[in-house]
Amino acid sequence: MGMTSATSLPHTVVIIGGVAGGMSAATRLRRIHESAEIIVIERGGAVSFANCGLPYHVGGVIPHRGSLVLQQPEQLKKRFNIDVHLRTEATAINRDAKTVSVTNRETGESRDIAYDALVLSPGSTPFRPPIPGVEDAHVLWNLDDMDRLMAAAETAKSAIVVGGGFIGLELAENLVHRGITTTLVEALPQLMPTLDVEMAWPLVERARFRGLDVRLQAQVQAITDAGVTLADGSTIDADMTVVAVGARPNIELAVEAGLEMGEAGGVVVDDQQRTSDPHIWAVGDVAQKKRPDGFSLVPWRGSPTGTAVWLLTPLPAGQRKRSRRLEPRLWASLAWPLRPPDTPSGSWLPKAARCGLFTPTPSTTPATTPMPSRWH
Ligand SMILES: Cc1cc2nc3c(=O)[nH]c(=O)nc-3n(C[C@H](O)[C@H](O)[C@H](O)COP(=O)(O)OP(=O)(O)OC[C@H]3O[C@@H](n4cnc5c(N)ncnc54)[C@H](O)[C@@H]3O)c2cc1C
Repeated sequence: MGMTSATSLPHTVVIIGGVAGGMSAATRLRRIHESAEIIVIERGGAVSFANCGLPYHVGGVIPHRGSLVLQQPEQLKKRFNIDVHLRTEATAINRDAKTVSVTNRETGESRDIAYDALVLSPGSTPFRPPIPGVEDAHVLWNLDDMDRLMAAAETAKSAIVVGGGFIGLELAENLVHRGITTTLVEALPQLMPTLDVEMAWPLVERARFRGLDVRLQAQVQAITDAGVTLADGSTIDADMTVVAVGARPNIELAVEAGLEMGEAGGVVVDDQQRTSDPHIWAVGDVAQKKRPDGFSLVPWRGSPTGTAVWLLTPLPAGQRKRSRRLEPRLWASLAWPLRPPDTPSGSWLPKAARCGLFTPTPSTTPATTPMPSRWH
């Protein structure tokens, strides 16, 4: 333990959360600091999985579940000498003692792990709006959610997706692809709320053309075994319901540790992702960063998936501006309804490339159909 004198780099680095941000931090750190002890604490059953591929495994476009899991703990130990603790939850940060309290979720055993540097990458939790029956609906956020959803989809003939942001749209796409009659219910008058209406409307038309029943300005009031009840009293029947209305950053540990929080609800970080504690860094969904154009943002609170969060907890006007970070996601989701009907899985390809699942080869074929002339 302690700083290595030769390099003054931290010797023991503990990372909370072992997926996108956490595992990127761990492997990058190993490349720049060969002798550091790197410990990853992950409360789920897998690290380094491709979140963005989950909807596409539901649809069978990514046929093998194993393709989603990019690294196993054993490989990470062997290749990078990184110690991964699965099903282990960080429950508290003691900044004075520089320790993290962790509990093994299988054995119940708790202990403290000392750190020289701590990286927070605990991500977000899908938001369940406060409506009756919501706890029985599916969400899609991790491999466990996906397994539950796929088990239900095995026998389902019809499905409802609540939320017309990018995860709702991707999931609806894949349920249709599976042959399930799917209705997408969105409270706003358009899909993908951060798009201008001129961009969003063709999306609705094309999604309907491809077999998705899109209901706009339809507010879900209750979720039942039979489907959903809307605010106007009408009902939609379905065998399964999925709620995809945004997510909230997992900031509890940071708040309890007294780290500085930003006005958008994230952990404030500087240009090097360092928090208000010089020994703690934060990355991914929990980090809130000042940007050169003057506003800061927690990704999921302003994301297109965050329709309900957006409606229920409005942000100050300045924070509603679009984020450049979202653009690749938007374009991936746009690709499905707009691509030619005979081009299967068009939206999965750019996503898979971004997830690192494969390297795309240049293509001369346009990715989308041109817009019909009446929209020009
Ligand atoms: C279905 C889906 C599709 C997506 N598609 C895209 C896309 O196309 N493009 C895009 O840019 N983004 C996409 N995203 C969002 C992207 O996955 C997230 O922005 C990114 O994963 C955030 O990285 P992170 O490290 O902050 O959190 P995550 O990658 O979610 O990792 C957080 C991890 O921390 C663990 N954890 C949380 N709290 C604790 C604790 N107390 N102790 C131990 N472990 C803890 C969690 O179990 C989780 O595994 C998608 C997300 C989903 C769910």
